[in-house]
Amino acid sequence: MERSSSTERVLPVTSVKDGSGREVMRDVYCFTTQIVNVYFIGNPAVSSEWVLIDAGMPESGSRILKEAEDRFGPDHKLKAIVLTHGHFDHVGGIIDILAKFPVPVYAHPLEFPYLQGKKDYPEPDSTVQGGLVAKMSAAFPKQAINISEHLKELPASGNIPELPGWKWLHTPGHSEGHISLFRFEGRIIIAGDAFVTVKQDSFYKVLVQKKEVCGPPVYLTTDWQNAWESVIKIANLRPSIAATGHGKPMRGPKMASGLVKLVNHFPYVAVPDYGRFVDNSK
Ligand SMILES: [Zn+2]
Ligand SMILES: [Zn+2]
Repeated sequence: MERSSSTERVLPVTSVKDGSGREVMRDVYCFTTQIVNVYFIGNPAVSSEWVLIDAGMPESGSRILKEAEDRFGPDHKLKAIVLTHGHFDHVGGIIDILAKFPVPVYAHPLEFPYLQGKKDYPEPDSTVQGGLVAKMSAAFPKQAINISEHLKELPASGNIPELPGWKWLHTPGHSEGHISLFRFEGRIIIAGDAFVTVKQDSFYKVLVQKKEVCGPPVYLTTDWQNAWESVIKIANLRPSIAATGHGKPMRGPKMASGLVKLVNHFPYVAVPDYGRFVDNSK
């Protein structure tokens, strides 16, 4: 059974929402595996074609496709995958998915070396301030995968042919080539790990997925100045719905005020006090 596979050995954390999905909008569906979300874009009432945003934890590929089958029907057709970035918990199922659906995978060119087996992400900083998940991050896989033959650069226009109505924007900091996706209809932002809606440094909050607007996960964020600017860029879009890589999607005044607070107090509420990637000039 998949539940007892090495996925659990990779990260012995499973949120209470593991394996569950929820509609964020009619054509935006959030599926959670363990501690990370992927998003299905497409309206099953209109078409069985869909686009996948991020690819989940290691070995989650078959679960993602099973969920897609339940949502879009047995003849569902994946059109493309868009990656917010290439960290292991966002590309974990991609090899298995591509084996079944050899579709284009869009990513920012700055993430390419990590997706072509050329460069590994830095070791997660398990010494960073911030609790148990940071401590466990030493065990996270960081080895680059190689999906060169599928990779496509995100078009400079900001548009993605398979995702009409959406714009991608560069939101670096958590990783160099991190991107977010925004659509004016519904004012929805898919923010990857540019910011998240669960405090990743609290083991308890990860387990119960308590909702709050937080900075990017600390143990893998390498450039805090860029991370701050990216959150400002997103806040300036005045999103109504925030669909992030970790934590439940949030909407309304609590999300909006949380985002403003994060922007205004970023060095104090998001940047850890100590850690390998923290600039001491804070
Ligand atoms: Zn990440
Ligand atoms: Zn992540």
